[in-house]
Amino acid sequence: MKYDLIIIGAGLSGFMAAKRAAEGGLNVLILSKGLGVHQIFSGCIDLLGYYPEDNSRFLESPFEGIQGLTTSKTSHPYFLAGIDDIIDGLNSFLDIFENEYCYIEGKNQLIPTSIGTLKPSYLIPITMIDGAFPFKDDILLLGIKELQYFSSPLAALNLKRYGNVRSNEISIYEIINQKNIYPVQIANLFDKAEFREKFITLISKKIKGVKLVGMPAILGRDKFREAINHLESELDVEIFEIPTLPPSIPGYRLYKRFRRYLDNLGVEIRLGVEVIKGEVRKGKIVQLLANLREKEEIFRAKYFLLTTGRFISNGLKAKKGTVSEPIFNLPIYFLKDKEKWFNYDFFYPKGHMINNFGVMVDNRFFPVDEKGDRMYENLKVAGSILAYHNSFREKSGAGIAITTGYSSVSDWIKYERQY
Ligand SMILES: Cc1cc2nc3c(=O)[nH]c(=O)nc-3n(C[C@H](O)[C@H](O)[C@H](O)COP(=O)(O)OP(=O)(O)OC[C@H]3O[C@@H](n4cnc5c(N)ncnc54)[C@H](O)[C@@H]3O)c2cc1C
Repeated sequence: MKYDLIIIGAGLSGFMAAKRAAEGGLNVLILSKGLGVHQIFSGCIDLLGYYPEDNSRFLESPFEGIQGLTTSKTSHPYFLAGIDDIIDGLNSFLDIFENEYCYIEGKNQLIPTSIGTLKPSYLIPITMIDGAFPFKDDILLLGIKELQYFSSPLAALNLKRYGNVRSNEISIYEIINQKNIYPVQIANLFDKAEFREKFITLISKKIKGVKLVGMPAILGRDKFREAINHLESELDVEIFEIPTLPPSIPGYRLYKRFRRYLDNLGVEIRLGVEVIKGEVRKGKIVQLLANLREKEEIFRAKYFLLTTGRFISNGLKAKKGTVSEPIFNLPIYFLKDKEKWFNYDFFYPKGHMINNFGVMVDNRFFPVDEKGDRMYENLKVAGSILAYHNSFREKSGAGIAITTGYSSVSDWIKYERQY
């Protein structure tokens, strides 16, 4: 058989599982319809921001929270991964990104969001770290009129609670000659030195006397380091990025870097492939049926890992009061009473119940039925599709994806090494 392992999904959990499996000697294929939450998330790797989830104070140490969580919530994905794999999984992520992410050992940091709140996170993109709270200087938030995804006056209004923050919005119409610009377009422009020179000339007078400037996270797609260094040295300021609305440029940067790493490891990645069904024989998945540009294709492997995400990526589907997993029809933890899926108070401190729904697994990530019995001997599940975590409320999304993706494939690696 050509592949030891097929991973369904090209999100963070699928990529982390692929990294570990390929480094462990497995031949890996990733099949995915799209790019997953990479395209919309902030780029910050949240590990655990709040625990218990209705606590209004953020956790200074995510690991203290994880310790509490893993003794009280034995179905939570962090309990299943275990503290050793949580640490090893983060380190494995940092193998690739050690020059691109900053962190303080064992501590969350607070960084500004585009609406001017502060968000706790653990691994912070290097382009955002200079904006971490407490602010090291007075801040000027610089918006761009033609980019409607970031309002510097709104962000500054809210951030004023935490320090001396003011805003300015500049028009770049005379450089781009268009009224509106999208994040990807402007990030492409910042990759070009010629555009940057014009931008520097335009803003240099407006930021005189300022030492620290916050801008939306659009300062270059592929050459963001070069772009930020150029702006900083010409303008004699420090610049930090603030995550904005999707599409996410920091998410794109992460995807691109990770993908290059996996390509070099020999992982085969096929995008635009929608897996429709898994065929079962004698308690094992034998093959996948997939759609590729209206054509059906069959894929075979020894092992299969499902990392198709939640509702937003179509890993879970909700219809007529039930929730289903469309490829293998795995049993899902959800509430039969639809009234209880959402709380009437949008900001309910415990979050909405729908955000806990997902696939039920045992302590080695094998999906189980309502009695807790393993369903298939060669299928596992990892990432946000797992049940019993509310990552929106806990602020644990990318942390769960990274650590469960990493942990889920370990016994297959060990098994293959033995035989
Ligand atoms: C708007 C938003 C903002 C967020 N911001 C943050 C943040 O700032 N920090 C943080 O830590 N976390 C954040 N999160 C959470 C976190 O990013 C996600 O939980 C995590 O990235 C999910 O990764 P995943 O691999 O489990 O799933 P996904 O990224 O959802 O990936 C699922 C993959 O499966 C593929 N797929 C689905 N169905 C099929 C099929 N039938 N056949 C083939 N492929 C299929 C999809 O195309 C996709 O590639 C955010 C989440 C959202 C929704």
